[in-house]
Amino acid sequence: MTETNASVFDMAMEQFEAAADLLQLDDDVRNKIKYPERCLIVSVPVRLDDGRIQRFEGYRVQHSTARGPAKGGLRYHPRVNLDEVKALATWMTWKSAIVGIPFGGGKGGVCCNPKSMSSGELERLTRRFTTEILPFIGPEKDIPAPDAYTNPQVMAWIMDTYSMNKGYCVPGVVTGKPLELGGSMGRIEATGRGVFFTIGCAAEHLKLKLDSLQVCVQGFGNAGSVVARLLDEAGAKVIAVSDSQGCVYNGNGLPPGKLIDYKNRTGSVSGFPESEPMPAEDLLHCPCDVLIPAALEDAITEDNAAGIRARIVAEAANGPTTPAADRILQAKEVFLIPDVLCNAGGVTVSYLEWVQSIQQLFWEEADVFKRLQNIMRQSFKTVLDISVDRKVPMRTAAGMVGIERVARATRLRGLYP
Ligand code: GLU
Repeated sequence: MTETNASVFDMAMEQFEAAADLLQLDDDVRNKIKYPERCLIVSVPVRLDDGRIQRFEGYRVQHSTARGPAKGGLRYHPRVNLDEVKALATWMTWKSAIVGIPFGGGKGGVCCNPKSMSSGELERLTRRFTTEILPFIGPEKDIPAPDAYTNPQVMAWIMDTYSMNKGYCVPGVVTGKPLELGGSMGRIEATGRGVFFTIGCAAEHLKLKLDSLQVCVQGFGNAGSVVARLLDEAGAKVIAVSDSQGCVYNGNGLPPGKLIDYKNRTGSVSGFPESEPMPAEDLLHCPCDVLIPAALEDAITEDNAAGIRARIVAEAANGPTTPAADRILQAKEVFLIPDVLCNAGGVTVSYLEWVQSIQQLFWEEADVFKRLQNIMRQSFKTVLDISVDRKVPMRTAAGMVGIERVARATRLRGLYP
């Protein structure tokens, strides 16, 4: 298998083993916490607008419920498959543990092309998928949230379908809901804001000033666009941005706010007036201080890692760097903020939303952001201290923190029956 078609779950397992070895984790606990607890594959038949019925395949994986209910997003994308969802669910387990929130890890997905589907088709897909996984989800069991190409509207449909089946309103079954349905202030920008906080911590550690940084962002969705805007507001210069349709460059700095408006109008950053076009592959090799992969997995591979010229790589996406690429970046002494730490702001505010939902309580945006900042800074410090003490890469250190916490919970709970 070449790296490009290697299993993403194998990659998650390779990262797990590296951290588990350093923790000298015994085989009993190691094998118990390594594999997903439950993997569900469902058929999702949907009536299309033209009257035909199309069958889609959907997945929900609960990797761990050792520390709390399974938690993780739901993705709609043509490349979704069980292997990918298993990997993403595994990363959620360590992510929740690293930021110290009382959740396990889960993930779901439907293999479909949401860009070619109407809103009605997406609603019917979501409602049927929710019905198929209904016995497995719930505020105390498994709580979906947005991920790539799902959004607050999709969460509202899930919440409604679940509630109608139960016979009463259950806002705690999903996070990332619209505010009107009990969503939390700040949830939409939580992932990007969390990435921004970790970049701030990394810059402080490396004695770099935020307002002197040049930044390249691959992927201009919910995470990439928010972190670009916040870095720009902090005085950094966003010089290159790409999305699935194209890539734009401006050495004097792109204005992220205008770029977001432009993308909302046209569907892509491509053709943005205050920029020049650039081949998307060149973005990764652009000389800059911070490179932010904010798209999908397999972005930084052994084929392109050697050309990276950034000082910091901040993984806003899940699994953007393959293990072989990791080794190349380490040899180049690139400071990598691993996904399970870097993008944990999303699930952290999901936890704050869940707490508010089950108590029918609402916090101000500033309060949510303050809590998020404290959790991100504390988590970064915990991981950095281990990385420095044990002389291991940040990814391994983060894995050690997450795995150790899950292992401890697992030992305390013991083996049932
Ligand atoms: N999809 C996001 C992630 O990968 C958020 C998950 C959540 O809020 O549960 O972390």
